[in-house]
Amino acid sequence: MEATETKSAKEIVQAAWNKRPLIISGPCSAETETQVIETVTRLAKTGKVDIVRAGIWKPRTRPGSFEGIGTKGLPWLQQARKLTGLPMAVEVATAKQVEDALHFDIDVLWIGARTTVNPFSVQEVADALRGVDVPVLIKNPINPDIELWTGAVERVAKAGIKQIGLIHRGFSSYGNTEYRNAPMWHLAIEMKRRSPGLMMINDPSHISGRRDILLDVAQKAIDLDMDGLIIESHIDPDHAWSDAKQQITPERLAEMLDSIKWRHETTNEKDFIDALAKLREQINHIDDELIQLLGQRMKIADEIGQYKKENNITILQTNRWNAILEKAFAKGEKLNLSKEFITKYYDAVHMESINHQNKIMNS
Ligand code: PEP
Ligand code: MN
Repeated sequence: MEATETKSAKEIVQAAWNKRPLIISGPCSAETETQVIETVTRLAKTGKVDIVRAGIWKPRTRPGSFEGIGTKGLPWLQQARKLTGLPMAVEVATAKQVEDALHFDIDVLWIGARTTVNPFSVQEVADALRGVDVPVLIKNPINPDIELWTGAVERVAKAGIKQIGLIHRGFSSYGNTEYRNAPMWHLAIEMKRRSPGLMMINDPSHISGRRDILLDVAQKAIDLDMDGLIIESHIDPDHAWSDAKQQITPERLAEMLDSIKWRHETTNEKDFIDALAKLREQINHIDDELIQLLGQRMKIADEIGQYKKENNITILQTNRWNAILEKAFAKGEKLNLSKEFITKYYDAVHMESINHQNKIMNS
């Protein structure tokens, strides 16, 4: 091929960055040269991956687990790119890591969830990026605070980085949940609304923490119009040095991507749009009614508050509340409403009701 026909590394990264849906995959961690080369070669063979990810420095919640192979793994990624032409992405958390990654021509950098929480670290990374032309992905912070996420975007943007993308990897939560990191989809949606110019990639691996629900999470993300997916893959997932439970083989990744229904936000078919508009109209109507009813309900709560005040009765009456919830669960089941939704809905209504009564009783 003539030199002029050969795409430069920058052009390849550019094309990958702009592709929708953007698919990023690779091991949680680079472990050995063989593992990196074999994973990337098999990923390339699927023809479905746009950018490779590999952790070189691993921020672990507790010490003692594998903390990353370090700088010595960077030439392996360079080699993998040479063999496959795929752009490479690594996580950076310090100025030194930025410097090392760029020294080995890493194409895309990402800021991890444990870094986004800390403005000092984000600023250090941002300062190291000043004057550099490299795309940067920013994961949500581990806690559900989109101001921190927004702040990280602002710091990186102020350093002059033009290509910034977001990764939704879910949020730490304490207690029983089926996820490793609760997705809290509404936060990703709100962040997308706030930053319409930035792509939002979903990370089903770190949300799920396990293989069996990866596809469900990925499908949900696509249904919510996310711009792409970042999914961890490994040649021998069960023996991965980090995040073994959530990784899948490159071939399994290809199957999974094939079974996703790739929905589009808009379509040109007029009939479809009309039908959708009608259904949306119905939903608006019902939502309107729900708000009206909630308003009425709270007016009654006010009256109860007045009554309780006059008769010196406490606001919260636990027995009554449990009885209401049990009834609602039973009813919800018949109407195909999940227990989780009923709980959230009743909690929200109950809290609002208590606030109303509180106001009355303390007035
Ligand atoms: C990772 O991508 O392997 C990682 C450490 O993710 P997070 O920052 O989302 O925990
Ligand atoms: Mn991981």
